[in-house]
Amino acid sequence: MSTVTRFPPSPTGYLHVGGARTALFNWLYARKSGGEMVLRIEDTDLQRSSQEAIDVILEAMKWLGLTWNQGPFYQTKRFDRYGEIIKKLLEQGDAYYCRCSKERLEEVREKQRANGEKPRYDHYCRDSNHVMEEGLPAVIRFRNPLTGTVIFDDVVRGKVEIDNSEMDDLIIARTDGSPTYNLTVVVDDIDMGITHVIRGDDHTNNTPRQINIFHALKASLPTFAHVPLILGKDGQRLSKRHGAVSVLEYREIGILPEALLNYLIRLGWSHGDQEIFDQDEMIELFDISDINKSAASFDMEKLLWLNQHYIKAADQQRLAKVLAKRLNKRGIGLCGGPEANEVVEVLRDRVQTLEEMVDGALYLYQDFDEYDENAAKKHLRPVASDLLASLSEKLAAIDEWEADAINQSIEDLMAEKDVKLGKIAQPLRVAISGASATPPIDVTMKLVGKERALERISRALKFIEQRVQNNP
Ligand code: GLU
Repeated sequence: MSTVTRFPPSPTGYLHVGGARTALFNWLYARKSGGEMVLRIEDTDLQRSSQEAIDVILEAMKWLGLTWNQGPFYQTKRFDRYGEIIKKLLEQGDAYYCRCSKERLEEVREKQRANGEKPRYDHYCRDSNHVMEEGLPAVIRFRNPLTGTVIFDDVVRGKVEIDNSEMDDLIIARTDGSPTYNLTVVVDDIDMGITHVIRGDDHTNNTPRQINIFHALKASLPTFAHVPLILGKDGQRLSKRHGAVSVLEYREIGILPEALLNYLIRLGWSHGDQEIFDQDEMIELFDISDINKSAASFDMEKLLWLNQHYIKAADQQRLAKVLAKRLNKRGIGLCGGPEANEVVEVLRDRVQTLEEMVDGALYLYQDFDEYDENAAKKHLRPVASDLLASLSEKLAAIDEWEADAINQSIEDLMAEKDVKLGKIAQPLRVAISGASATPPIDVTMKLVGKERALERISRALKFIEQRVQNNP
């Protein structure tokens, strides 16, 4: 039987990193075993689901390259099918109508709590021949077995055992007839031929309940693998308060999709000490049986480190396109500035994110408003005036504005004035870029362009003059 995995998000918000990791594991396992992955949108909670959330989830999956082979299937389009199965369960005697009022259920629970018992449905309607009060709203409950034990072999957690006596008679249809999560999941997993259910271990408690429904429907069970949660650095479940958790937020700050995937596969799965995995390797080496049993914690530093690696390794043309697009988004065109390709070549080894690359490229395309305060204080001082003015003359005489020629001018000046490189390069950096950290200064000036570079030196000279005047 060929492997079929599934990714079934509930579209109640963005795709978060935990969901993306679940999708990745399902995707990898399907690829690895030559099988398929189903994408199913679990949108039965009409109040909390939205088309916008569906769009955002699909976009995030596409961005990560987590392609699906079947679907997307929408649960809201399958209500007839769920209705059929509910009817079947009723006919078989595996489900029953329950007309208990909220007040009655609350009373029962109160009593149970007072007696120190676990609150649960007391089976009032289960075997009774209560005269059905027609017109009273009814839910439909699954008739969970009363005795025996549900045992399943979870690929990650090992043997899981739960006594049926611990389980409630689940509501499988609400008073308006709409089916509930545990029912729809089982019907879909059966109908879609799912062989492997790989999901977050927050669903482990649902599994034995679902297994009983599988049995009632005489369907064979899929293999279950429950993946430990992702925690924040403080050991609490990863959430918004730990920072970005939405996949598209990572795209926004300039994480490459391959870096995020590489990061996610290592969160809760390992292959020796290896940290870097390209896609083929991931597919080849991944196995659900190697998923770690303990929760993994999210480490932004490590994600940035991987991103840096992938930025260094990425195709230059691709990065140039990304740079142009991101500059455009900030209202900056490339006209009159250096080729995006050249900029990428110079900046790619110096940044951890694409947005950092854009930040580092800004002064190459547009004039900066102000100098960095500390950098200007330290480097744009009267001692630098003479050096900058003399250098400006030499630079003005350069015909071919190339890094070599610029460098030669700086070296000539160092020899003439008998000064070390720092004495010239640091004021020059601040003059050219507004701050004191740039790529090698000759390369930087080449990218800025001759006219702009000379203008900026003269702006710096004026700044120094002004400073002297203000503090005589
Ligand atoms: N729709 C569920 C969720 O987003 C997943 C259910 C499942 O994997 O069975 O948490």
